[in-house]
Amino acid sequence: MIQLIRGFKDILPGEVELWQHIEKTAATLFEEFGFSEIRIPIMEKTELFARSIGEDTDIVEKEMYTFPDRKGDLLTLRPEATASVVRAYIQHRLYAQDPVRKFYTIGPMFRRERPQKGRYRQFYQINAEIFGVASPLVDAELIFLLVTLCERLKVTDVAAHINSLGCPACRPDFKQALSVFLAGKTALLCSDCDRRRDRNPLRVLDCKVPACREAMIDAPSLHDYLCAACRAHFETVKATLDRLGVAYRVDKRLVRGLDYYTRTTFEIQTGALGAQSAVAGGGRYDGLVQALGGPDQPAIGFAIGFDRLVEIVGLNPADLVRPPDLFMAALGEKSQQMAFDWMCALGRQGVRAEIDYGDRSLKSQMKRADKLSARYVLIIGEQEAAQGKATLRNMATRDQLEIPLERLVEAVRETIQP
Ligand code: AMP
Repeated sequence: MIQLIRGFKDILPGEVELWQHIEKTAATLFEEFGFSEIRIPIMEKTELFARSIGEDTDIVEKEMYTFPDRKGDLLTLRPEATASVVRAYIQHRLYAQDPVRKFYTIGPMFRRERPQKGRYRQFYQINAEIFGVASPLVDAELIFLLVTLCERLKVTDVAAHINSLGCPACRPDFKQALSVFLAGKTALLCSDCDRRRDRNPLRVLDCKVPACREAMIDAPSLHDYLCAACRAHFETVKATLDRLGVAYRVDKRLVRGLDYYTRTTFEIQTGALGAQSAVAGGGRYDGLVQALGGPDQPAIGFAIGFDRLVEIVGLNPADLVRPPDLFMAALGEKSQQMAFDWMCALGRQGVRAEIDYGDRSLKSQMKRADKLSARYVLIIGEQEAAQGKATLRNMATRDQLEIPLERLVEAVRETIQP
């Protein structure tokens, strides 16, 4: 028996209803806020991710599914969506008419991480990106959107964490100060952080290894190095969130794992998921569009971890499953044939009807109708068929109604879809 790949999973009926509900809720909210859907491929040239995410990040260094195709081109299963959305924005000149564009996309991502609860090798993200707006208002707008989505999905126990990572004008000074600080801590750092120390010292700030956290307690703070423009930007983000009534926590260690972020970064964290506390994360990436060969347009976005969101929504998947409208219990060959034809006719008109394909007793067919929680059952035995009528029973009230066969489809539809 061939099993699925480690770190991959099936989403089965019974849980898929929750995924569909989240997808619909998110798409509705995005459309209310002026976002359009964009669908991007799940594979890109490796170079796109290496250049945008950064060579020295965990993702590019050790987590990508990269392989040569039959002609030897290096391809990668996308580990995140932003790089592809930026590529599409540039390639199709989506900025030409109006540089301000809002996109969302939902789909699978691939990272070869160590599988554990809340961490998969194929996982799903809901992404939103806004291009062409430098104003800190959109930073607040995206955080507001995330919080609103959580509200609509009845997710409680979430908190917005925000930080500023500065910009190319002020971050180098901070990086320098941090490198000097880290040089005095080499003996205390984990091997990953020791390696990152020179090339990507910011990453040491969010290392989860207790010894590293301990060593970083008195590390220099990025906030002391922010330039006046970055400081003003961050202040406006905070003031806007205050005005919108969005609770947040400033978290100076929030640096996130991708190189392209500038200024505002944020995460939605929950206490409900143990170690994998980040449900969503995002931030500004003002330099990325230009770095990938596009115009100098600012941008900001976020990614929600769909798998993690599913774990914490306050909804019961059983409440989302729609039972059939009608189950037809037919006895005898002629009745069964008629029931099959009616099922097809009703289905065409939007009524979810089911039949029993076998030749089973009325009792076992009624049992199955109960098991499926059908709202109505149509009973058509040989006697009823001979008399040209069938019985329609409302399973909740137990009321019964006789229905003439010659206008069965119309009569059933009128009764069960008031
Ligand atoms: P990132 O693109 O790393 O910023 O991740 C954004 C969000 O995607 C995270 O906050 C997680 O909720 C989710 N995520 C990232 N990696 C995984 C994974 N391996 N399995 C499940 N969810 C993930």
